[in-house]
Amino acid sequence: MNRVISLTNVRKVIHYHSRMSHTLPRTVQAAVMTGPHQPIVIQEFPMPELPVGGILLKTMMSEVCGTDIHIHHGRLSGVTYPIIPGHVSCGVIAAIRGNQPINDIHDRPFKEGDIVTFLDVAETCYSCYYCSVVKQITRCPHRKVYGVTYSCNNGGLFGGWSQYIQLVPGTKLLRLPDNLDPVSYCGGGCGLNTAIHSVDRADIQLGDNVAVLGVGPVGQSVVAFARLSGAARVLAIDSESDRLEFARQMGATHTFNLRENSHHEENERIKEINKLSDSGYGFDVCIECAGNPTAVRDSLLYARDGGRVVITGQYTDVGSIEINPHQLINKKHIQVRGCWGSDFSHFYRALELQSKYHTQYPWKRMIGKTFQLSEINEAMKAVAERSLVKAAIAPNGTDWF
Ligand SMILES: [Zn+2]
Ligand SMILES: [Zn+2]
Repeated sequence: MNRVISLTNVRKVIHYHSRMSHTLPRTVQAAVMTGPHQPIVIQEFPMPELPVGGILLKTMMSEVCGTDIHIHHGRLSGVTYPIIPGHVSCGVIAAIRGNQPINDIHDRPFKEGDIVTFLDVAETCYSCYYCSVVKQITRCPHRKVYGVTYSCNNGGLFGGWSQYIQLVPGTKLLRLPDNLDPVSYCGGGCGLNTAIHSVDRADIQLGDNVAVLGVGPVGQSVVAFARLSGAARVLAIDSESDRLEFARQMGATHTFNLRENSHHEENERIKEINKLSDSGYGFDVCIECAGNPTAVRDSLLYARDGGRVVITGQYTDVGSIEINPHQLINKKHIQVRGCWGSDFSHFYRALELQSKYHTQYPWKRMIGKTFQLSEINEAMKAVAERSLVKAAIAPNGTDWF
């Protein structure tokens, strides 16, 4: 069970602690994924030397999400094994190297003892063709992702499944809002940034009918953000009844269980789903968060003529699907939009929204269980088998120092 943790109390404890001790341990324990399908092992690293402008966090919490499972199965390209996974994390600033202040976006300097989180993408160059000409910074070829494309070969602690996290100069940090505890934050986690980007791409209009295909962590947050964007009706489609039930709590007005309706012929199913759109003509917007190629074709089938389809779930290459472009795109006059990664604007807005709405939308409950670092293989197994939507990792325990 997750304990209820008041961040205000956490701050008091940390403040007390930071006055008591400024010395850092000489070694750090971290969970290392050495390669696809290999058991994850706990390794001891020397405390790294920070470069000027670097920041060291004492980890409070990190998450285990579907992406970590894909990485473990070798299905994500560009992963630089061995890695310390854990791309979305929060912690306390334990050290800042250099005399120059490192400021937040309101020019307030960060200081030791601040409880922060950080954008998992770093080293976006802001000067390549994609960054500076066509302004598609999530496609910058120089960007790197904590827990994914930073190797720990040379001792760098660049992932959250570690007692300390090393942030490269220029990493974008935000203070965790006072009312948001680490479990709530990690419950939204990386899915939150992706969800807000998807909903931006969907251009939802007031009163729209929206279908969300696949309600894993990303889909659940898409449901909530679609409602906040003014969608009158949000249909959650999935095969798991518990996920559909949870989607209701996240704001879905209707649900459709694919497994329970699997006896239907495809045409019947499309008719049934289209009936759930207010007009009966299909959905104004379909957002695919399922991660299988069939859901892409289904999105085109469930969208009304002239509707929009956003493809978010195909983050890893899960293969192809045959589509009749005449019938499903051209004649239907559909807009199809991809959605790749997220940037600081999504991260900032997601955190603000989570802080304002976390009592209304129960992100916290997406974390099924909090695990110790030594239990990492169990946590991975639970998420892979879908017995938990998400797991949290607390590498320093949950007594928060
Ligand atoms: Zn760039
Ligand atoms: Zn993730």
